[in-house]
Amino acid sequence: MATACTTLLTESSDVAVSMWVRKAEVAEDLRKHRENKRLLPGVPLPESVNVTSDIDEAVKDAEYLVVAIPTEFLRTALTPLAPHLKKGLPVISVIKGIEKETFFRPSEIIADVLGPRPVVALGGPSHAEEIARRLPASVVAASGDIQLAKQTQQLFSTDRFRVYTNVDIVGVELAGALKNVIAIAAGICDGGKYGDNAKSAIMTRGLVEMNRFGSALGAEPTTFSGLAGVGDLITTCMSPFGRNRKLGEQLGQGESLEQILSKMDAVAEGVNTTRSVYDLAEDKGLEMPITTEIYRVLFEGKSPDDATQTLMTRPQRE
Ligand code: 13P
Repeated sequence: MATACTTLLTESSDVAVSMWVRKAEVAEDLRKHRENKRLLPGVPLPESVNVTSDIDEAVKDAEYLVVAIPTEFLRTALTPLAPHLKKGLPVISVIKGIEKETFFRPSEIIADVLGPRPVVALGGPSHAEEIARRLPASVVAASGDIQLAKQTQQLFSTDRFRVYTNVDIVGVELAGALKNVIAIAAGICDGGKYGDNAKSAIMTRGLVEMNRFGSALGAEPTTFSGLAGVGDLITTCMSPFGRNRKLGEQLGQGESLEQILSKMDAVAEGVNTTRSVYDLAEDKGLEMPITTEIYRVLFEGKSPDDATQTLMTRPQRE
């Protein structure tokens, strides 16, 4: 997503864009080939983007910091940046996960590591592979600071990338994280050949679960009917290259989580998010049947067929 964001920004604004990459050899490779061969092959990185592994060079004149790092690495990756950032420098997060153990959302991790500062979450159906190829997409910028949400809208909007705004950062971040759990379940439907009806039911009841969990944590229920909720849920559950859906598909075909993870290049956030959401839901006494079954398949070796049977034979609901 980092590469797609830099590509977007060079097109949408006349700001100078620097891309900070932690490892010097990766930065060197990106500078040389102007292409992220591992994560976004075939998409040229604009010449104007300055790629560096030198933190100070990357952030010294920064007016915004855009963060696109998987949740599990976010804390460690941000720590060395903290002393280099201007006070009050706003942060734009495109991260969709929940931290293990702390249960922090990305904006909470950012505040924890970088100190209190304005944060905006950019969420919605936005596969990097499509954004980088200028296919039309719409997202939402959410922040308690509506001015920052509007600045982010200005900063990212192009004729192919439409940005809405709202103030529900809790809802946008939770929706972005939760839909990855449901996408694993949707992938299991694909891999297990359970059919279109089953997959639609998973998406629909999954959305109910997302909304129940989010509302209990202070999200605005309407956010789940928007781009960051149902919008991103559809993309992530349907896309042939969705990482979480693909992981689920392989589970549905009988592979173990270890086998799948050992072959994966990119991070499927839904795996860790399932654990966080399951633990938090247990804590709060929230009914999350799909998440619970995905947890059992991922971490307790339950078979997708048995998980499906459990879901189908739960006590009747109205
Ligand atoms: P995946 O990580 O499952 O590919 O989802 C990407 C995404 O969030 C699209 O908006």
